[in-house]
Amino acid sequence: MLDRLDAFTQWFDSHAGTNNLDEENDQSVDWVRCIPFVALHLGCFAVFWVGWSWPAVFIAFFLYFIRMFAITGFYHRYFSHRAFKTSRFFQFVFAVIGASAIQRGPIWWASYHRLHHKYSDTEKDIHSPRQSGFWRSHMFWFMGKSNFSTKKELISDFMRYPELRWLDRFDVVIPILFATGIIAVGDYMSINMPEWGVTGSQLFVWGFLISTIFLFHGTCSTNSLAHKFGSRRYVTGDDSRNNFWVALITLGEGWHNNHHHYPNSVRQGFYWWELDITYLILNFMSRIGIVWDLKSVPEKALRSSLISEKR
Ligand SMILES: [Zn+2]
Ligand SMILES: [Zn+2]
Repeated sequence: MLDRLDAFTQWFDSHAGTNNLDEENDQSVDWVRCIPFVALHLGCFAVFWVGWSWPAVFIAFFLYFIRMFAITGFYHRYFSHRAFKTSRFFQFVFAVIGASAIQRGPIWWASYHRLHHKYSDTEKDIHSPRQSGFWRSHMFWFMGKSNFSTKKELISDFMRYPELRWLDRFDVVIPILFATGIIAVGDYMSINMPEWGVTGSQLFVWGFLISTIFLFHGTCSTNSLAHKFGSRRYVTGDDSRNNFWVALITLGEGWHNNHHHYPNSVRQGFYWWELDITYLILNFMSRIGIVWDLKSVPEKALRSSLISEKR
């Protein structure tokens, strides 16, 4: 009974009842804790009631794009791999934008990603299609009773920032504020620009629910699809693949075999024909001084461990 209560409390406070979770190593899905996650999916069907409009679809796309960038550029390349540097202010700004994607706080996210790189596709990898099947690698791994609490020992470099620890603990706050803001914008548009056909509930469904669910499965596809489908350029000791389609929907994360070969590079598309939009944006941000010290792939690493025979 007590742990059921904890599962509810964890909707609002991710530190609730997590003291003994790690030792349990219980892989079964915690459906009570995941009710909001399921509800976000089901909520998308409300599109049949609220309809659509071009502004709502455009805003949904825009919010997908900017939040995907915050996840790939910052949650992944910055917080997980420290592939570049930025100020504490912009570290927080992009942590907040990333937090609106409902993929938990940056510390939790990066700690589990570092774990993935440490054990890629071995028995200790928490989301390996080879070890535990496609759907666990895609989403069941974080819906389980284990893998909920942050692996603090793997992320001590960012644990020292109280603002990030707060985002990590109360990871529901930013999504609630974000959803409220979207409804407010939709209501404002319905009153002041009625000819556009946007309403608060319509913008909530498109800008929050649909955009977030697409964003969510897009991000997860790096862990599932990009460890199963695509080509391999480097011997990496895991199943990572380069996959153009995953790179397209994730703004560059699909060059995953490149990434496992040289994880600290800010650039994952190693050549001009490997489209890496996140890198292009970070490169632009470095020109205007928001980020700096971008780490690149050394020439030698580009040509090392190549797989000579195509599979
Ligand atoms: Zn991987
Ligand atoms: Zn990585």
